[in-house]
Amino acid sequence: MERTFTMVKPDGVRKGLTGEVIRRYEKAGLKLIGLKMVRLSEEKAGELYFIHKGKPFYNELVEFIISGPVIPMVLEGDNAVSQVRDIMGATDPKEAAPGTIRGDFAEEISENVVHGADSVESANREIQVIFSQDELVG
Ligand code: UDP
Ligand code: MG
Repeated sequence: MERTFTMVKPDGVRKGLTGEVIRRYEKAGLKLIGLKMVRLSEEKAGELYFIHKGKPFYNELVEFIISGPVIPMVLEGDNAVSQVRDIMGATDPKEAAPGTIRGDFAEEISENVVHGADSVESANREIQVIFSQDELVG
């Protein structure tokens, strides 16, 4: 069993895609063990995306991620990290396959509906940034 961190970004929430995103994860057999709706502070957003600090898109990314409420989630299942990455699709929606969340619902790399951890290590770190232990079940 593996845990991962994923999040519906502000554009996904605004477009009413929260249920669809959760449905796709659950349909794949992933189990929700944490979920909330929050507006991230600039500090939390910076912690979440600290690996991208200094990159040309960093400031825009943080501004966007704090522009509205997000739905962070913790999912559990076999190969949860790579399963979620597969369900999300490629970072750039122009390269994301049909049938993936980004392929079906996103147009721009800067507003690509979902975030998902890229490794077990990132997942554990991101879970700790956004969730406290008593917010997770099981
Ligand atoms: N991003 C962007 N421009 C880029 C690369 C990334 O706006 O050239 C944004 C995009 O929203 C992406 C996020 O920064 O989802 C984090 O980038 P990463 O490479 O980690 O992609 P992800 O893991 O989200 O697929
Ligand atoms: Mg990433």
